[in-house]
Amino acid sequence: MAVGSELLLGQIANTNGQFISKQLASIGVDVYRHTVVGDNEDRLKIALQEAYERADLVILTGGLGPTKDDLTKETVAAFCGKRLVYDENALHEIEDYFKRHNRVMTPNNKKQAYVIEGCTVLANRHGMAPGMLCELEDGKKLALLPGPPSEMKPMFVNELLPKLLGATEQTEITSRVLHFFGIGESQLETDLLDLIATQTNPTIAPLAGDGEVKLRLTVKHADKNEAARLLDETETLIRKRVGSYLYGYNETTLVKETFLRLQASGLTIASAESLTAGLFSSELAAFAGASHVLKGSVTAYSNELKQQLLQVSSATLASDGAISEACALEMARGVKTLYGSDIAISFTGVAGPGVQEGHEAGTVFLALLLPGGKERVYTLSLSGGRNAVRMRAVKFGYFYLLE
Ligand code: ATP
Ligand code: MG
Repeated sequence: MAVGSELLLGQIANTNGQFISKQLASIGVDVYRHTVVGDNEDRLKIALQEAYERADLVILTGGLGPTKDDLTKETVAAFCGKRLVYDENALHEIEDYFKRHNRVMTPNNKKQAYVIEGCTVLANRHGMAPGMLCELEDGKKLALLPGPPSEMKPMFVNELLPKLLGATEQTEITSRVLHFFGIGESQLETDLLDLIATQTNPTIAPLAGDGEVKLRLTVKHADKNEAARLLDETETLIRKRVGSYLYGYNETTLVKETFLRLQASGLTIASAESLTAGLFSSELAAFAGASHVLKGSVTAYSNELKQQLLQVSSATLASDGAISEACALEMARGVKTLYGSDIAISFTGVAGPGVQEGHEAGTVFLALLLPGGKERVYTLSLSGGRNAVRMRAVKFGYFYLLE
């Protein structure tokens, strides 16, 4: 719940809500609703009552400052039936803050040293107003954080989050992100539904975004070894079900994993690209050391060039067409011969919109020639607009190279 009339007036956007939601999603907390309410005691009370009824935890930001319009603390205290009490520690921190910043403390700043009776005080390392975490008799929680994002964010991450996750001085929080490809988000969730619902340490949370499917495992632990053991155990359970789609950890991408794999193997690659027109090789070339891995690529968009540069036969073009398994194979063979690479990959297909050579938009043929004479052809049926099809085709190329 964001408190502040300037939010309702449209003067500022509720970026606190966005930040907190993202953070909560990443540890597997379901966010049910965002509320924005002005600096008005009566309306804040009503909003609090509603939020409290539907949620186990309500996080409020804003209105903790020293001025008259800052009334979050007072309103929440009244809502909980608690008094505000003077907190010596909070006062010391406020005095400290003034000293560090060479400023003179005014009497109304003392107001900020009042906290709700019985709450856990959340230290503010970037401002003065302390945050609070109040537990009500029924176990529900209310958290109060300052409005300025520069104060709210570190307090959320360093003070509130560990307390919500039950971390103590003896425990820490560690995450591991698993990256998947070739499986949709909803399928992944369905396959892991019971694990996601029942696992508490680590928690398993799906992460959406940038066309990738990821899971974040978050573990509470006493030491690094225990963290690794708990994360490994859960990862093993996940691998048993969807392991064939798992390709990497933490900060990584498909193309990066492919590049590293090729680099480690000492093998070279060349691409023959119709549909993707150089996209595959261009992404590989983004990595330092690409010249040891990438021999080159041929963009052969027209049928004439497929024949001239890649030796695709006119018989194949006449019988199967340019959008076919046969053409994809011949393109890959052509570029392998041309550049003398260990591995060759080719892409031909319909970016769309509309049907081409009788194939729907999104139809892609991808051929892969591996060392030892292994030849593979894949048929894909991709969704999305032109560029989505082209980019997804390239991603499948990297993924098949990792298999
Ligand atoms: P202060 O001690 O600065 O008064 P406060 O806890 O009382 O802090 P507010 O007075 O409500 O917080 O807001 C202070 C400033 O913080 C706002 O002017 C705005 O710049 C920023 N802010 C407040 N709420 C939000 C929000 N939900 N999203 C983004 N920024 C916010
Ligand atoms: Mg204020």
